[in-house]
Parts: sequence; C-alpha cells; structure tokens
Amino acid sequence: MQDRIAIVGGGIGGLTAALALIRHGIAVDVYEQAPELKELGAGVQISSNGTRVLYALGLGPTIDKVGVIVSGKEIRLWSTGQTWKLFDLGAVSVERYGFPYMMFHRGDLHAALLDAIRREKPEAIHLSRKCMGVTQDDAGVSIQFEQGESARADLVIGADGVQSRVRLATFGADQPEFTGIVAWRGLIPRENVPAGIKLDVGTNWVGPGGHVVHYPVRGGSLLNFVGLLERDDWRVESWTVQGTKDEFANDFKNWNPLIHECIRRVDVPYKWALFARPPMPAWSKGRVTLLGDACHSMLPMLAQGAVMALEDGYVLARSIAMYGVKSEALQHYEAARRERANRAVSGSAENAKRFHNPDMAHAAGAEAYVTREWQEDKVKQRYEWLFTYDATTAPV
Ligand SMILES: Cc1cc2nc3c(=O)[nH]c(=O)nc-3n(C[C@H](O)[C@H](O)[C@H](O)COP(=O)(O)OP(=O)(O)OC[C@H]3O[C@@H](n4cnc5c(N)ncnc54)[C@H](O)[C@@H]3O)c2cc1C
Repeated sequence: MQDRIAIVGGGIGGLTAALALIRHGIAVDVYEQAPELKELGAGVQISSNGTRVLYALGLGPTIDKVGVIVSGKEIRLWSTGQTWKLFDLGAVSVERYGFPYMMFHRGDLHAALLDAIRREKPEAIHLSRKCMGVTQDDAGVSIQFEQGESARADLVIGADGVQSRVRLATFGADQPEFTGIVAWRGLIPRENVPAGIKLDVGTNWVGPGGHVVHYPVRGGSLLNFVGLLERDDWRVESWTVQGTKDEFANDFKNWNPLIHECIRRVDVPYKWALFARPPMPAWSKGRVTLLGDACHSMLPMLAQGAVMALEDGYVLARSIAMYGVKSEALQHYEAARRERANRAVSGSAENAKRFHNPDMAHAAGAEAYVTREWQEDKVKQRYEWLFTYDATTAPV
C-alpha cells in the first residue's frame, strides 16, 4: 500500500502542504474540524516570498483575478493623518523579488488552494473531523476524532492553528501569554469607503498604544480594516467574536476623524485578543510534525503568519519528496524552517513596539520618530530577508 500522510487542519498552511504533496504524487488526507471549508471575512497580505509559492503551485491565473496588487505602503499619523511613504510595491516588488506583493480576502486565497486540490484529488479532503489527539508507534500514527472514529497514517502534519491539538498531544500544553493587545477587524464595501482613504495602497496608521491597517481586497471591491489597541480587559483568542461599533470607536477615541468614519462603515466588527507563545525548541517528534500557527504563531505586525505557513507547507512537501515518507524528512524540514520562522516571530513583536511607540503622542515627536524608524535602510533591514527567500529552492 502507498505511504500516506495525514494533515490535521485545512487552513492556508494545511492546504498548501496538501497541494504541494499532491503535485509530488504523494498520497495525502486532510482532516478539518469544520463541516464546511471556508475562511473568515477578513484580509490577508501576502508578500513576494508567499506569492512565489502560490505561483509555483500553479495558482497564478486564479490569484491574479482575486488578489490586489497595491502600488505601495504608507504610514499615517494617528492624530493628524500626516502621511509618509513606507515602501514601493507594485512593479517594484516584481522587479526586486520576482513576484508581487498581494492583498487577498482570506476566503479567496483559501478557495484558490481548495479548488486546486478538489480538481486533482477531491477525496483528499475530510470534513467534520475534529482531531482530539494523536498517538504514534513503530508502524505509524493514529489520529483520534471527536466522534469516536480514528484514522491511520505514516506521517502526521499538525496544521491545526494556534490552539493545535496535535501540538498538545505531541509536546504537551503550551504557555500562551496575553500581549495586552486587542485586534478589531471588519470589511467596508468600496462605495462606502470615505474620501481621504486611499484604495490603491496599503496603509498603517501608527499611534501611541495602537495602530490601524487598511488595504483593498477582492479585486478592490472591499476595504479590509483592522485596528489593534493596547487594552487589558478582553482575553478571548477567537476570530469569530463580534463586538460593537461603539466599543470599537471607544478604543480609538481621539484618533483621526477618518478612522471613525471607517469604524462607522465596517459591516460587522469582530474582536480578537492577541496572545504570544515562546518559540518552540522542536516542531517534530518521530512521525509527527507541525507547521504554520501550530508551531510559530506570531503577532500580525509583520504580516507574515500566513506567508510563513505557505513557505512551511511548500518546503515540507519538498523535504518529503526528497527524503521519503519518513521521520527523517520531518527533521530536514524543521532544520530548514525553524530559525527563519522564529525570526519572523521576534520581528513581529519588535514591530508591535515600533507601531505603538509613545513618542507619537504629539505631532512634533512623531515626525522625528517616524523619520528615524522608517528610514529606507532600516526598512530594508527589517523586510529584505523576508521578501527574498525562495521556498522553491531553499536548501532542505
Ligand atoms: C489581525 C490579524 C491579521 C493578520 N494578517 C496577516 C497578514 O496580513 N499576512 C499574513 O501572512 N498573516 C496574517 N495573519 C496571520 C495569519 O492569519 C495566520 O498566521 C495564518 O492563518 C496561519 O495559518 P494556519 O494554516 O497555520 O492556521 P489557521 O489559519 O488557523 O488554520 C487552522 C485550520 O485547522 C482547523 N483546525 C483547528 N483545530 C482542529 C482540530 N482539532 N481538528 C481538525 N481541524 C482543526 C481550523 O478549523 C482551520 O481550518 C494575521 C493574523 C491576525 C490575528
């Protein structure tokens, strides 16, 4: 019988690994807890190191239709709205890194991966399979599901996100620490976006104790609007809890009127408490490994969590194709990926401090701070190592 790989979790990371394995002709099953596979109504930015993976998987024609290529990124001051250029994207990203920086509705990116898998191996996706634990022996791994049934595989990949059951079963309980930051998110239809908010760039409003990010998604028909604020009284780590616009607005009291216009116009405001986890000393044990948020969840301030999951999935499939369906392949994958992913975790935490610096309370201090912190060479140092990485050729 052909060796089989089981992936627990059908998010962006799990589906990327599945599609890449299918392309190598390796048998794979994806077990997803949800009864239906769909992503949240939220945006995700995918830098060139991530779009490189999507194009390598043959998804170019699909993502070109639904993704948005913005011309660049800007920084704006929370109070006055003063604007500084952060970096050029658009053609510059393609020229410099070979691939575009793209903004997606998460549902569109997820659907691109899912449709490709369903076209090639529709039987690979198993829904309503909530993993409760994994146990391994010399011959393979058993996965136990909530409804009592189980599955068997030669290798198991835990792609089950920040509250990973595979991680829990393999490495024990983790120690999430509340960061003191709460994230708000919502979408605004293009026709309701206030004048004064640009639709052709990605924008980061920065201020003392908070920041706001917005960018266009779904071919430019929607604006993704996210606000992050230091606040101690909300600690639920879930993407699906609704808040109210009044509470959202209250968190951004005294911010620029344009921010309040946007808050009034978001469809549904959702809130999520951000937790940090210390870097894991190992991701793999025997026949089980982890990828994406299951082993390196990070704050969203570098916009690299999903990008790292894309890179992980692609490199893991290459490693298995190279070394076989054996635990040795998992060790090679981990050695290729762990340091880079952990660097992105710490880079995201550093950016949190930078985006929320108290020096920005007053416009005069802000001018000096922004000019110093977002100098071209400093920005390059923070992002170049991310954007230039090539998951399709990186040594494994
Ligand atoms: C506010 C915010 C903004 C962000 N913006 C960006 C951005 O712009 N760019 C970027 O690159 N990243 C961004 N991220 C990070 C990004 O969302 C995550 O890093 C990414 O979704 C991780 O993908 P994943 O596949 O590892 O996990 P997930 O997307 O969490 O997928 C996990 C999957 O596993 C399933 N699952 C969970 N438990 C089980 C179980 N027990 N059994 C079976 N299935 C299970 C879930 O239902 C889900 O389908 C952002 C995060 C936040 C909070």
